Amino acid sequence: MVHSQLLQIPGQLLSPPTAAISLVGAGPGDVGLLTINALLRIQQAEIVLYDYLVSEQILSLLPASCQRYCVGKRAGQHSMTQDAINQLLLKVAATGQRVVRLKGGDPFIFGRGAEEMQVLLDSGHHVEVIPGITAASGCAAYAGIPLTHRDVAQSATVVTGYCKAAGKSPDWAQMAVTNSTVVVYMGLFKAAKIAAELIKHGRAAGTPVAIIEKGCTPAQRVVECQLNNLADTIAEQSIQSPALLVIGDVVAMRLQQPLAAEDVA
Ligand code: SAH
Repeated sequence: MVHSQLLQIPGQLLSPPTAAISLVGAGPGDVGLLTINALLRIQQAEIVLYDYLVSEQILSLLPASCQRYCVGKRAGQHSMTQDAINQLLLKVAATGQRVVRLKGGDPFIFGRGAEEMQVLLDSGHHVEVIPGITAASGCAAYAGIPLTHRDVAQSATVVTGYCKAAGKSPDWAQMAVTNSTVVVYMGLFKAAKIAAELIKHGRAAGTPVAIIEKGCTPAQRVVECQLNNLADTIAEQSIQSPALLVIGDVVAMRLQQPLAAEDVA
């Protein structure tokens, strides 16, 4: 099997866990996008706390004996409060077993990884962090969209469509400049407002947008539209979470594979 062969690679590539508790990024879905360090932690886990974004394929790599807690969160339907998750983390950390806190994408990008890690550190636990491929880079690449392009986008911003407190909204004016790509996480419900803010601050109404639903999974769907019909497109196409919005001229540079000979004929 490929994965166990990987573990036999001799050399310095594989770093052993540096703490009993590992905060691990599982990437955006495809098991092949796990890092080797993430795979090692998953295969050695005795207790795992995971989110709904972690794919079944990745969960199947856990040892059969591993104790599993789904603490999954979805916008609007939290199965556990953040406080309850923190308490559970402290409880499992106290067992001294190998704990893996498994999160979709990267734990430090819209993942509350820092908050959970701080709680553990405050209680005297050592915690290591294994970064993961975040949805922006994974989903854009699988959709064939370069996030930057020297002709059209000299910067790319990751931004959340969901803010904890009123008054802490993103700086849409700064993202309205033409030569910047905007990647919105958790943006489905606020799409109309996000588009209106960007247009109000000067972004062209016709700016191309890609909506990437369930990126990096076999169910990936990419729908293209324009900024001024983003919310309508989401509704018409019944886009489901998780979905990422990529806004900017890079969407027009989307790379498509050549058609297979049988499709052309
Ligand atoms: N820590 C994660 C992000 C968690 S926030 C990361 O680094 O990727 C959850 C949001 O991420 C979702 O609402 C969606 O906007 C985005 N997302 C995560 N995985 C995704 C996927 N496979 N396809 C599309 N969007 C995804």
